[in-house]
Amino acid sequence: QARTESLGIAIYQQGEDERYLRELMIIRDLPVALSHGQFHLVYQPKVDIHTNRCDSAETLIRWQHPQLGFIPPDEFIRLAENSGNISIISDWVLNTAITQLALWWAQGICIKVAINLSAHDLTNAQLPQDINRLLTDNNLPIEALSIEVTEGAVMKDAQAVIAVLQQFRQMGIAIAIDDFGTGHSSLAYLKLLPVNEVKIDRSFIKDIHTDATDLMIVDTSIRLIKGLNLSVVAEGVESLKGIEILRQLDCDIVQGYVYSKPLKAAEFIAWQHNFNQS
Ligand code: C2E
Ligand code: CA
Ligand code: CA
Ligand code: CA
Repeated sequence: QARTESLGIAIYQQGEDERYLRELMIIRDLPVALSHGQFHLVYQPKVDIHTNRCDSAETLIRWQHPQLGFIPPDEFIRLAENSGNISIISDWVLNTAITQLALWWAQGICIKVAINLSAHDLTNAQLPQDINRLLTDNNLPIEALSIEVTEGAVMKDAQAVIAVLQQFRQMGIAIAIDDFGTGHSSLAYLKLLPVNEVKIDRSFIKDIHTDATDLMIVDTSIRLIKGLNLSVVAEGVESLKGIEILRQLDCDIVQGYVYSKPLKAAEFIAWQHNFNQS
């Protein structure tokens, strides 16, 4: 009995060590990865389900590591936050997205892009002006860019974050609450934060066609969000049935594999062109 137990612990320990080494490697390589061009952005279409058109996308970061291969953003973003590296990643995302936007708009392709920001970014009182300048310098209108904020991000230093979000709001940059419903004070955030859009988390959406509880939660959330005059997005829709239900519930915008996975810039533009033609 004691032997199997210690064996179990040894195996567990080994797994822990591997994970620890992997995390150290990720943290060590984050700053280098930027200058070595290992990051790129992908774009996932956001579709207006009433007009059946796509004129916006969410941008998501991708990291192809030379030894570790594809590292999921959930994993390295958390490690970047904990190791104090998140702002260099966010700067890169911002600059890359704006460079891409400038190319599109210069060609008359007027796509809007949402970027994800972390808690730490939102305590930087300088950020709204920096973004304003980047947009102006690139001849982009303010509505070309919007930001997505997770509820968790606000917890850190609520006063500072609210002040920054209010600056964004005054500038005319749209703000979305991401992963709505997964935090502990979703409703409090709706009251507290100056938001334009609410994105209902995928965990409530994915079984909406089979699960009566999820359906009730999503129906009620949509009524609530629209009652506050905010725009509502359903994340992670994977089936046509899902789209149909969400249309009946009067959801505004749908994102998910049912339309497309996140795509590289050129693929996204081709997809968007095709979609809006058909
Ligand atoms: P998120 O912001 O909630 O992004 C949505 C995630 O759901 C993305 O995963 C997307 O690829 C995935 N997704 C979209 N549609 C579907 C679907 O129909 N089914 C399923 N199963 N998944 C779907 P991804 O790209 O792995 O990103 C995970 C998280 O990492 C993001 O969650 C976001 O919190 C974070 N993240 C990604 N890119 C960035 C970034 O540039 N900056 C920051 N700060 N965080 C980022
Ligand atoms: Ca997001
Ligand atoms: Ca989300
Ligand atoms: Ca998420």
